[in-house]
Amino acid sequence: MAISTKEVEESLDFLKHQPKKLFINNKWVESQSGKVFTTINPATGKPLAQVYEGDAADIGIAVKAARTAFDDGRWKDLPPAERARILWKIGDLIEENAYELAQIESLDNGKPINECLVADIPLSAAIFRYFAGIVTKIHGETIPVSFPGRWFNYTLRQPIGVVGAIIPWNFPLMMAAFKLGPALACGNTVVLKPAEQTPLSALRLAEIAQEAELPAGVLNVVPGFGETAGAALASHPFVDKIGFTGSVEVGKKIVQASTGNLKRVALELGGKSPNIIFADADMQRAVSGAFMGIFLNQGQVCSAGSRLFVQESCYDLVLEHLTEEARNTRLGPGVDPLTQMGPLVSQEQMDRVLTYISIGREEGAKLMVGGRRAGGDLKDGYFVEPTIFADVRHDMRIFQEEIFGPVLAATPFKDEDDLIEKANSTIYGLAAGVWTKDIAKAHRVAHALKAGTVWINCYNLIDPAQPWGGFKQSGWGRELGTYSIEIYTEVKDVWVNLD
Ligand code: NAP
Ligand code: MG
Repeated sequence: MAISTKEVEESLDFLKHQPKKLFINNKWVESQSGKVFTTINPATGKPLAQVYEGDAADIGIAVKAARTAFDDGRWKDLPPAERARILWKIGDLIEENAYELAQIESLDNGKPINECLVADIPLSAAIFRYFAGIVTKIHGETIPVSFPGRWFNYTLRQPIGVVGAIIPWNFPLMMAAFKLGPALACGNTVVLKPAEQTPLSALRLAEIAQEAELPAGVLNVVPGFGETAGAALASHPFVDKIGFTGSVEVGKKIVQASTGNLKRVALELGGKSPNIIFADADMQRAVSGAFMGIFLNQGQVCSAGSRLFVQESCYDLVLEHLTEEARNTRLGPGVDPLTQMGPLVSQEQMDRVLTYISIGREEGAKLMVGGRRAGGDLKDGYFVEPTIFADVRHDMRIFQEEIFGPVLAATPFKDEDDLIEKANSTIYGLAAGVWTKDIAKAHRVAHALKAGTVWINCYNLIDPAQPWGGFKQSGWGRELGTYSIEIYTEVKDVWVNLD
């Protein structure tokens, strides 16, 4: 091992003061119950840090802080340029602390530090900067009125209020940025509950927000468990909106919990995205795109191209190359810069993925490579080999259900007509990829796919200006871009009688 995780753990000041506290109303506080929980380093299976465990009582206090900070106007009534300055500063501080944040993220989640340094951290900074730019451009419209008389009719875009943000563990800092960027830009205040598996980078982000002089109570971070802290946030009568990213199963619970006060709800849920390679594609790019499409972040990506459709005439060749690349992938702890694939986030996630691999075998799919937990030096961590199944039928569970791990299910297709219905035949509609040099075909397929994002001759790209979200059970609403203003504001129409 080139760099040991122990060395990195010991070098981080952030980990020296434990248990890590909750961030409420600009103060670092213990949980009301005094209980703590442990976050694990998935590369070693050993404890990484102790964190105070927030539950309904702490959520109640945090919501009250956020409510006051919203209602007294300390954030929403600041001049937009001032709010923009603070959000920009958060982006700058993320960038200034990029290496430390990358180490924290890599230790807590397991992901390769190089991925953190090129994607998670810079994208999080970019999201804050993009939304800093949006703050001064959120405005209403003037509306022509046909009613007799003289009128002036205009709309205002106003913040919704207190936002409860509940996020998953796969891109912990970036998911926090996805919620905080647009919610804060629009003038809302926030209570953020990070995932229990990865609470650390959200707490470091709260320190950064404090340093950027975000007013007290505008951002509160309460780590804890979904069934307690998360559920309390989703059902709290003083929370006006929930921004949720996670599984379909929990997304449905959020909707049910929100009915008490008919909260606004935005959902970014799972996927089983098709990645489609036509025989006329640039094969080298298509193969590496398909590989990255599934194995990035150990396959724990909502938009992972987990269903690979390959046109018959190049099917064997594509699978041969993918299999070879999987064999040559270097597994290791995320903090080691030589690592290409890290561990899965938790024992539970590893068990889930290994169960799906057994299901794939039982269903009769052809295992090309992988299929096992890694051994040797890595035996204590939650490492699963990159796994490829070929000749997967559409009715198999591994072709329909989100595995959320390094498992690719490949199938051949004949032509465009044969493809679309199959590609659209899951409950999900988050993303899709198309690889071809035929520009007309690429656009025809992009139009026909039921997906919130379609990548043509590329995969897994995200930009803060792009709308992000899903068709069907992949979610409600679009985050990022100017589209996110829709989900973080209320529209008010004002009539003025000019006579
Ligand atoms: P999850 O189990 O649904 O958890 C997501 C969050 O919800 C966590 O913070 C969790 O808390 C919390 N939670 C659990 N039960 C809750 C409840 N009853 N009430 C309120 N909150 C509750 O998802 P995950 O396993 O962390 O993440 C994987 C899923 O996220 C996948 O399906 C993936 O596709 C999806 N995802 C989607 C996107 C997107 O943009 N569409 C992006 C990333 C991930 P605890 O973890 O503390 O229990
Ligand atoms: Mg962890």
